[in-house]
Amino acid sequence: MHYISTRGGMPPKTFTEILLSGLSPDGGLAIPETYPKITSVELSNWRNLNYQALAFEVISRFVDDIPKDDLRRIIQQTYTAEIFGNADITPLKTLEPGLHILGLSNGPTLAFKDIAMQLLGNLFQYQLIKTGDELNILGATSGDTGSSAEYAMRGKQGIRVFMLSPLGKMSRFQTAQMFSLQDENIFNIAIRGVFDDCQDIVKAVSNDHAFKKDHRIGTVNSINWARIVAQIVYYFKGYFAATQTNDEQVSFAVPSGNFGNICAGHVARMMGLPIKHLILATNENDVLDEFFSTGIYRPRTTTETKHTSSPSMDISKASNFERFIFDLTDRNAKQVAQWWSAVDLGKAFDLSASPLFHKTKDFGFLSGSSNHATRIVTIRDIYKRYQVLVDTHTADGLKVGQAYREAGVPLICLETALPAKFSESIQEAIGFEPERPAGFENLENLPQRFVIKDSDAKVIKAYINEHSIKP
Ligand SMILES: *Cc1c(COP(=O)(O)O)cnc(C)c1O
Repeated sequence: MHYISTRGGMPPKTFTEILLSGLSPDGGLAIPETYPKITSVELSNWRNLNYQALAFEVISRFVDDIPKDDLRRIIQQTYTAEIFGNADITPLKTLEPGLHILGLSNGPTLAFKDIAMQLLGNLFQYQLIKTGDELNILGATSGDTGSSAEYAMRGKQGIRVFMLSPLGKMSRFQTAQMFSLQDENIFNIAIRGVFDDCQDIVKAVSNDHAFKKDHRIGTVNSINWARIVAQIVYYFKGYFAATQTNDEQVSFAVPSGNFGNICAGHVARMMGLPIKHLILATNENDVLDEFFSTGIYRPRTTTETKHTSSPSMDISKASNFERFIFDLTDRNAKQVAQWWSAVDLGKAFDLSASPLFHKTKDFGFLSGSSNHATRIVTIRDIYKRYQVLVDTHTADGLKVGQAYREAGVPLICLETALPAKFSESIQEAIGFEPERPAGFENLENLPQRFVIKDSDAKVIKAYINEHSIKP
């Protein structure tokens, strides 16, 4: 298995060669040369595997340069009942026949990103011990990525985390979850700006190849391919849990921001998992819904980016979207490079008159958007009908997913966070606060550790220079 760049400018590399970085040298994203195809015999054999065994089968298709026994051990250490709250890891909750919620949010930070990030932490550590190298992780977060990365990397030797977040834009719970970490290898940097400013700084630093090399900069944001791989597993797990036989198709509803989660669903489908529709749900920041309904991909400016009650989806460009467009164009790297040279300057590209726009349907994609009012109504409605409490992001997925529900096709809505993280909106919807899982009762009152910086790559480079591990 080799990896190439969506923009065509990277010689084929192995998994561990792309593991520690996100972007290819040409600015594109790493992607497998071809997707592994799962036979119907394999699919039958996988149906009754537990999460760890299934994860090994899926992940080893993408990772062939870590010895199998080591990979198996890393996966077993990652997906434990202790870390993820129960032995199923991603339990399926059936609201009524044909309508399910796949619970992805039982990890340490109560959001689905833990599923990928916990694996990434262990893979990084394994690789760094092997090479004797060190790593300074630079990341951008709109909330959940940051805490999930920090909880995955805290205390790990040879790793430091520099996490940029938009000052004052995360929920109190999310902020407290990150900033209360006192580990010496964790650096919280609040940026005067929005999430995309943070993401732009990460890109700018990563594009400074000399700095990146000297300071051993790596990334963990959703462009990291290993994260996509880890997320593919639960599409298979959810499929098996919601069906009796492999002749059935299912649809997934996915609350989307950076297109990382649904990109994993796209890859699962390309591998041969019987997915009928991938239903993409956005919030008011509907750049992706706009693309799938009009064919125009028009990144927003930071001032156009809205601060919403599903804040982990507050994006104006979706970094992983480039991987899908690469497949949509039949892997035309030259075309992708051309479109993204415009996107990187904040410009749009327009497929509305191209046959490619209709082809998005052949890939199973449908889309819709939600807003604060529909989100609140959905939370209330799901609670009234099923006595199940969902968070604001999951509600966006449920709202859009239910609108496309078809008789005879199980709909699996991905739960991307627990309601306890967004208690203000829950209070608004049902009149009381959600219960907090044990250990989170006093979170906002803990002492916080963070610095505030301007949105300027130079300033951040200087900070990293001062605090990074010096070889
Ligand atoms: C990150 C996140 C999303 C969006 O996922 P993408 O992979 O960026 O599309 C949705 N909901 C929650 C709670 C998240 O943390």
